[in-house]
Amino acid sequence: MSADAATTPMMKQYLAIRRELPEDVLLFFRLGDFYELFFEDAKVASPILNVALTKRNAVPMCGVPHHSSQGYIAKLIKAGKRVAIAEQTTDPVPGKIVERAVSQILSAGTISDLNLLDSNRPNYLAAVFREGKKFGLAYVDHTTGEFEVAEFKDTTELADELERLQASELLFSDTQREVIDALGSPGSAQPIESYLFLLDQAQHSLTQHFKVQSLDGFGCTGMNAAICAAGCILQYLQFQLRRSVDHIQRLRVGQTNDVVLIDAASQSHLELVSARGGNAHTLLSALDRTCTPMGARKLRHWVLHPLRDLDALTQRQDMLAAFLDEPMLLSQVRTLLKEVRDLERTSSRLSQGSGNGRDLQALAVSLEVVPSLKTLLSSFDSPTDSGKPADYSESKSVGLPESAGNLLEHLAQRLHDLTPICQEIQRAICDEPPMQIKEGGVFREGWLPELDELRNASTLGRQWIADLQAREIERTGIKSLKIKYNAVFGYFIEITKANVGSVPADYHRKQTTVNGERYITDELKRMEDKILGSEERSKALEYEQFIELRSRVLEHLAQIQETAEAIAVLDSLGSLAETARLFNYTRPVLNETRNLFIRDGRHPVLDQNLTSGERFVPNDVTLEPEESRLILITGPNMAGKSTYLRQTALLTLMAQIGSFLPAASAEIGLVDRIFTRIGASDDIARGQSTFMVEMNETSLILNNATERSLVILDEIGRGTSTFDGLSIAWSVAEHLHDHIGARCLFATHYHEITALAQSRSAVKNYNVAVKEWNQQIIFLRKILHGCAEKSYGIQVARLAGLPENVIDRAKEVLTQLESGHQPAESVKEVPVATSVPAKARKKPRSDDDAGQMSLFG
Ligand code: ADP
Ligand code: MG
Repeated sequence: MSADAATTPMMKQYLAIRRELPEDVLLFFRLGDFYELFFEDAKVASPILNVALTKRNAVPMCGVPHHSSQGYIAKLIKAGKRVAIAEQTTDPVPGKIVERAVSQILSAGTISDLNLLDSNRPNYLAAVFREGKKFGLAYVDHTTGEFEVAEFKDTTELADELERLQASELLFSDTQREVIDALGSPGSAQPIESYLFLLDQAQHSLTQHFKVQSLDGFGCTGMNAAICAAGCILQYLQFQLRRSVDHIQRLRVGQTNDVVLIDAASQSHLELVSARGGNAHTLLSALDRTCTPMGARKLRHWVLHPLRDLDALTQRQDMLAAFLDEPMLLSQVRTLLKEVRDLERTSSRLSQGSGNGRDLQALAVSLEVVPSLKTLLSSFDSPTDSGKPADYSESKSVGLPESAGNLLEHLAQRLHDLTPICQEIQRAICDEPPMQIKEGGVFREGWLPELDELRNASTLGRQWIADLQAREIERTGIKSLKIKYNAVFGYFIEITKANVGSVPADYHRKQTTVNGERYITDELKRMEDKILGSEERSKALEYEQFIELRSRVLEHLAQIQETAEAIAVLDSLGSLAETARLFNYTRPVLNETRNLFIRDGRHPVLDQNLTSGERFVPNDVTLEPEESRLILITGPNMAGKSTYLRQTALLTLMAQIGSFLPAASAEIGLVDRIFTRIGASDDIARGQSTFMVEMNETSLILNNATERSLVILDEIGRGTSTFDGLSIAWSVAEHLHDHIGARCLFATHYHEITALAQSRSAVKNYNVAVKEWNQQIIFLRKILHGCAEKSYGIQVARLAGLPENVIDRAKEVLTQLESGHQPAESVKEVPVATSVPAKARKKPRSDDDAGQMSLFG
């Protein structure tokens, strides 16, 4: 740049604005009726715009008329450029320079001008970010406000999604060029300063933008890679557009199409893999009868990742059916599986260069069962061949007829018979190999002659030394003479003080101790060399052999891993079959309808954990889109509402991992997501009030549920005042029914909501039956049509022994409240209760007090 150019006030202004912009951005600088570009910008833009490049004061420049700038900007954006527009912000005054500022930066992903957009497809701005092993993706259609995040385990998956999105602009951190390379360096890729991807900053800008305290309500808790990408997008948009992006109102977590997404809150509400009352009471523990660690991990994965694919589920069901048709075979398979160790972790330890003799042994022991396992599997009748419709006939119309055969075949093919390598390990490795691999003792005697010789040499040497001690005692007459060994001196002869006088001349003194002297002889040293030498060499040989054997085994790593995977699946299926057998489960009909019918369903965990004398009362569920898609359940505390809700969610989830169900029969139209909001959970650790947590979770549901989802809402709105709570519960129920159309179970103590059923045909009221008997409430646990009796709270209070005058006053207040009035002052003071029966003074039980059969214990 020439000295002249830099000195004019306008050029100073230009340069100041230019400095604030990223290098690749082209600055359109408003000068009267023109946008002018200078320096490099002019050189880059003029050929694309097809306008003349000129010079003023030696500064290269080009310009386009203001009124027709749109077309020119479109050309640049199509060419993958970004354009910053610097407008005049003050009116021209003679003798004063006009102020200018960047009004916005336009790029392919941020344009909203209709002329620049293709109306037939969305226009996405996307960002990718790698964090640990996860690849985060966020994308926004600035034109609609659609904003989604997702995470992927590899760039292949990510690339698939990007392929679907066809983003116009793809942001990536300038420190992660390899990610973009792995994606085939799409032309839309745009490097961005890495600080825009910082997690803290991302979280801050997102929570600020959405005016929320945490991102939990969006269901992206823990999705750090995606959050970083989303944060970058939002900051980029704000930086580029320099105006409100308030039309972006929510962040959705992208649906991975093959699994039922269960957000963190629902996972913990449903107590899938961990429970407040201890992990013995989770769904996983109710289902887990696996025999191997791989099987246990697999089943856990299944429980957390239920499937949406009917074919895959039918295959699992068919396998279960095959197992249940042949209980003897099932038991034999399980017996074999019990022999199998942790193949997965063992082989990965070995392949990472660690692992010891025990790992090889575990590998051999595990792989040894494979041939018998294969034989057993081959003796299973495929359920279609068996021609036994029996209990599973219902699903015949649904499943792929040959599917069990497929899965069985698939598993059998993946169980690799590695007998030769097993035998080699078993011939080589001794029965109890040590933890160390460099200290010897790993290999069997008779396996390698060379090793045996070395070992013999050292054993013989030791024997020779024992003999030498006897010989020397005789020669010297010193009865207390001992030959010892330590790491510093090796072998030596120890003579007590009293006997030092009798030491022969060929002894060389080595060391004096408190009690005597230590000597060596030439003969002893020569033998020591031999012993130690052979010991060293045998250890070295064993180590070398171990490494060799390990690498021979690892040549089969892929097959071992496949076998481990097949065993894991087989074990999980066997476990589901065993549970189904033990607790009399039935096979649900699965289909793509939006029905959810369960007859005589039982809660899978309570069903297994009731103490003797108790019986779980089975209940029906009827949900379908036309007549009954929102069920409202009322009833007193402890009646069984929450249990019924959880049970329905759990049975649906079980059906979608391929399990059979504790029910007389069931038809499950596959769901895409399961949402639950159950009970009041405190999240004090994160500094959020119960109500805040509750609303976060509710907003997650309303933002993400679809008509294929199952939504379980238990007492929402309880964390705030009655009228607030009621209004929220009401509008949430309405929204779910009217706009989302998800199948929904809604338990509430807001009796008023039951009125929804009058105006909405697909809302149905249910209640949990209770009976008064002998001054006690008997909970019948039966879900019945219709609303609960309204006065239950007060009725229960009376039964609990509250004084009659308190009850009367409560009724009075209730009536006043219900008619919309402030309760009038009580006319007389309520006396201190002295006449309450002792048993009724017990603390009222909380809602979460599980296992109670009656309010009065
Ligand atoms: P609510 O939500 O109506 O207050 P819960 O669902 O928490 O009631 O049920 C209270 C207790 O009743 C549960 O802990 C359980 O022990 C018992 N219970 C619930 N449903 C059943 C049932 N169907 N059969 C047997 N016991 C049940
Ligand atoms: Mg409850």
